[in-house]
Amino acid sequence: MSKFWTPVVKRTNPYVPGEQLNDPDVIKLNTNENPYKPSPRVIKAITNTATGDMQKYPSPTADELREAIAEVNGVKKENVFVGNGSDEVLAFAFYAFFEEGKTLKFPAISYSFYPVYSKLFNIPFDAIPLQDDFTLRAEHYFDAEAGVIFPNPNAPTSIYWPLEQVKRVLEANPDVVVIVDEAYIDFAVGGESAVSLIDQYPNLLVIQTTSKSRALAGLRVGLAIGQPELIEGLVRIKDSFNSYTIDQLALAGATEAFRDTDYFEEKRQAVIATRTETVAALEKRGFDVLPSGANFVFAKKDGIDAERLYEQLKAKKVLVRHFKDPLIANYLRISIGTDEQMDEFFKRLDEALV
Ligand code: PMP
Repeated sequence: MSKFWTPVVKRTNPYVPGEQLNDPDVIKLNTNENPYKPSPRVIKAITNTATGDMQKYPSPTADELREAIAEVNGVKKENVFVGNGSDEVLAFAFYAFFEEGKTLKFPAISYSFYPVYSKLFNIPFDAIPLQDDFTLRAEHYFDAEAGVIFPNPNAPTSIYWPLEQVKRVLEANPDVVVIVDEAYIDFAVGGESAVSLIDQYPNLLVIQTTSKSRALAGLRVGLAIGQPELIEGLVRIKDSFNSYTIDQLALAGATEAFRDTDYFEEKRQAVIATRTETVAALEKRGFDVLPSGANFVFAKKDGIDAERLYEQLKAKKVLVRHFKDPLIANYLRISIGTDEQMDEFFKRLDEALV
């Protein structure tokens, strides 16, 4: 009889991705995708590449894409790393920079992949409670043993944390890496990316994605920006697994997404405008909505069981996100769709609320 192999890697608490229903009638507001299609220039670049030299390997150094990202961010190509979605970039960063056995700090309410990676790489963690108003407090992240990571804006709360506070965390952790996960930063009106701080703080790694503001969740391209020493650390991990991380189609599409700045800006503003209307419409219905710097809102209504409402909406083919963690179990996270999707969302929400 053949032996049943048990993987060496421990099955801890696997990440549970948001539901993906392939029903065209579903209004899908549960995974913070961009409601708009990618730029036509992106589609053209991918199509041209698909009919080109797909028999060849892609560039292992992804120079053109890194140049395009560097240009948009006012940094150099040497400051940029790219990977298969920011989830992969995050995994590489955990492996590269957070030492096994030393304690990592991150907010208790934040991206649910952090504890998954911590357990995978044997990094103990201190999941720090948020303040009562769901904001972070810089002092809680001082003197970390292994490092610090937090999303900004935070997920799922949607709250942006001012750079002054981020700086205090960087200053109090000069010997370890501080990762700022900026998946949603482009939607933070009045907010500023921590990329502007990389020259001042060599311990800062900023991680961003094309999945949200650049409407390319299906292409899987994420990136990190930091000093070349940090970028080289990530390259070392990448080259140990797969030196061709980014495929040809993704290279072409993502490069064009960074070059087509007009389209990016138009859709970014559209999402922000719809968010403003969504917040007003929720408040009109008695919801409390946290101040959002993201392409989603986090809302609760006194006297309403959020899990039940989530189920009622699902029965009406509207998918939003509900988390079972008791600290946030009375909230729903609602991604911002198109104006038409949000109108339909409110119609079905009103039916559910009667
Ligand atoms: N960071 C945060 C805070 C997120 O919410 C997400 C999206 N679920 C990611 C990273 C990963 O995004 P992606 O892998 O699509 O780049």
